[in-house]
Amino acid sequence: MKHPTVQIRAIDNYDLPVLEDAIGTWFSELRDNKIKRSKRVLIKPNLLGAYPPERAVTTHPKVLEAIIRYFLSLKKEVWLGDSPGGSVSVKKVWETCGLNDLAERYPIRLVNLSTEKYRELNYEGTHVKISEALFKCGIVINVAKYKTHSLMAFTGALKNLYGLVPGMVKSEYHRLNPDTKSFAEMLLAIYGLCRSKITFSIIDGIMGMDGAGPSAGNPKHFGLLMGSDSIPALDTVASRMMGFKIKDLPYLWGALHMEGIIPSHIQVPHSFLHHSIPGVDIRIVKMRKTGLNYLPRTLGYAFKKVYYYYPVVSQRCVRCGVCVRSCPVEAISWQEDGYPGVDKDKCIKCMCCHELCPTQAIDIHKSFVAKRFMK
Ligand code: SF4
Ligand code: SF4
Repeated sequence: MKHPTVQIRAIDNYDLPVLEDAIGTWFSELRDNKIKRSKRVLIKPNLLGAYPPERAVTTHPKVLEAIIRYFLSLKKEVWLGDSPGGSVSVKKVWETCGLNDLAERYPIRLVNLSTEKYRELNYEGTHVKISEALFKCGIVINVAKYKTHSLMAFTGALKNLYGLVPGMVKSEYHRLNPDTKSFAEMLLAIYGLCRSKITFSIIDGIMGMDGAGPSAGNPKHFGLLMGSDSIPALDTVASRMMGFKIKDLPYLWGALHMEGIIPSHIQVPHSFLHHSIPGVDIRIVKMRKTGLNYLPRTLGYAFKKVYYYYPVVSQRCVRCGVCVRSCPVEAISWQEDGYPGVDKDKCIKCMCCHELCPTQAIDIHKSFVAKRFMK
């Protein structure tokens, strides 16, 4: 069996010719002749919300531009799109994330995966709605951002596939899968249904994010661009370089197992064999995921009494209403003072509000013990 390869380049900034060189080399080395055969390509970035590129929340438009230029040079029809989180306006997302600019300069089609038709599919008993756009394109390039994630600890290539689920259906899936384990199973089902369609995945880690990602963390210069035709291999290498272990990411082990990949067999460029990014802060997301997992049930119950956290709306709130409309369990509602408030008993800690608030006005209230473990 062929061992999967992960390509890695140290790239300092979003210099277009440098990006084109890396991406062009990787694509031309792909043995899969789908790139030659197929006429239409879907580029699927991470467009979580309306964040400017310098915030390092969304895939940088220069990375997308390099991919667009590669495929246009091959005379392919290029579709570019995602389904942003919650109730945010897709038009605003396109404008702020630099997609409108790309569509003005290149003959591409922007695709709103929130409103495209979808297919209802079933993966081993898990029912998932997936955008029809995925099935209309013979080439699919999945372009993730390199970040921590408050619910899933890490977000890379596999988590980026969640954007293939249309619009508010994503919130519904959060409601149905409130804990990390069940959400991981949902992600695995999405991966199982989409994996044969994904031609190549890229992680934009030139600027990434640590701390309380995926939107309220700290933009960090990681100086890395990575790619692979194997999503589990790519996420294994990327998450390890950030300091995670496979057991920290419940969906990753399942995806590796699905592909029969042994982590130590993944090929990386020699200079990155033991590479780890210095100074990455993953404590806050790692503790949320793993804090209770290793305790016996009775101890875990007692620990929950002293170790807890929940979102609170801060004074930075501009009353846009995104959190109220996006909370999958209606735990946020307008209060008499005109600001939203969180009902902590209803809250399932999916962190969608924290993820989607455009002004990072959702803080995390932590108990004394949680403060000791989380930054
Ligand atoms: S907390 Fe954030 S998302 Fe919610 S209304 Fe205020 S600004 Fe909007
Ligand atoms: S209040 Fe926030 S974290 Fe809690 S369930 Fe609603 S969106 Fe999720």
